[in-house]
Amino acid sequence: MRTVYVNGDYLPETEAKVSIFDRAFLMADGVYEVTSVLGGKLIDFPGHLARLERSLNELDMKKPAAFDDLLEIHRELVRLNGIEDGLIYLQVTRGSDGDRDFVFPDAETTEPTLVMFTQSKPGLADSPQAKTGLKIISIDDLRWGRRDIKTVQLLYPSMGKMMAKKAGCDDAWMVEDGFVTEGTSNNAYIVKDGKIITRELSNDILHGITRAAVLKFANEAQMVVEERPFTIDEAKQADEGFVTSASAFVMPVVEIDGTALGGGTPGPVATRLREIYLEESLKAAV
Ligand code: PMP
Repeated sequence: MRTVYVNGDYLPETEAKVSIFDRAFLMADGVYEVTSVLGGKLIDFPGHLARLERSLNELDMKKPAAFDDLLEIHRELVRLNGIEDGLIYLQVTRGSDGDRDFVFPDAETTEPTLVMFTQSKPGLADSPQAKTGLKIISIDDLRWGRRDIKTVQLLYPSMGKMMAKKAGCDDAWMVEDGFVTEGTSNNAYIVKDGKIITRELSNDILHGITRAAVLKFANEAQMVVEERPFTIDEAKQADEGFVTSASAFVMPVVEIDGTALGGGTPGPVATRLREIYLEESLKAAV
């Protein structure tokens, strides 16, 4: 049984409790982060912490009391659960003032809820999917307009994954006004004539921590990066595709809406970026 963290306490998962009036339960009024663990160490932790702070600020949500201890709590959960490879999920909500109301509760008297738990994923970095690549479908992007805030409103992304599954595919890329925004739980990229193309940062997409690291490593390796929107038609004619996220790192895309990319096998740029990302982020892991 896992040991999880709730508001200052480390508890067996079956004993961890949150109020039925919690704003995240009633209103999806919460934000989250997922940090991967490789070899018992946290990958890109400072980036996840900085984005959490930004998400809280954008929603006028108070920092949890333990904010400054988050690194320590992550490490303690890794230790208590013996995590070698896996994920740490963290969620902060606006808490509960013991009733349901659209109006935010008084932040002076209502403490945020902080919940964290681990997911063990042995061999996380050696995923067999990295060798075969993902098949993607395209779907309309029906989410709200502040996708830069990492909220727990994940119903539409879940529906997107189910649409992909029903179509015999692995994931979906979302399209708005004719252009790809991002994947259901990752940032989206294509490669054409050696150029890496990915949508620029704005409120339309999550500012991926893995995206930031991968683009930095790509620049350092003298690869050309173009930050601009692309269409599904352009993607279908690309040499390669890939996605990035904290849990999948760099994952090749080999098919979009039934059209194979670059012969239907993972391309050299995605494969190389995956190697560089894993190598460099492991070096910087805490
Ligand atoms: N976009 C969306 C919609 C996501 O859910 C995620 C993963 N949380 C990402 C992008 C990738 O972000 P990161 O690299 O920080 O995991």
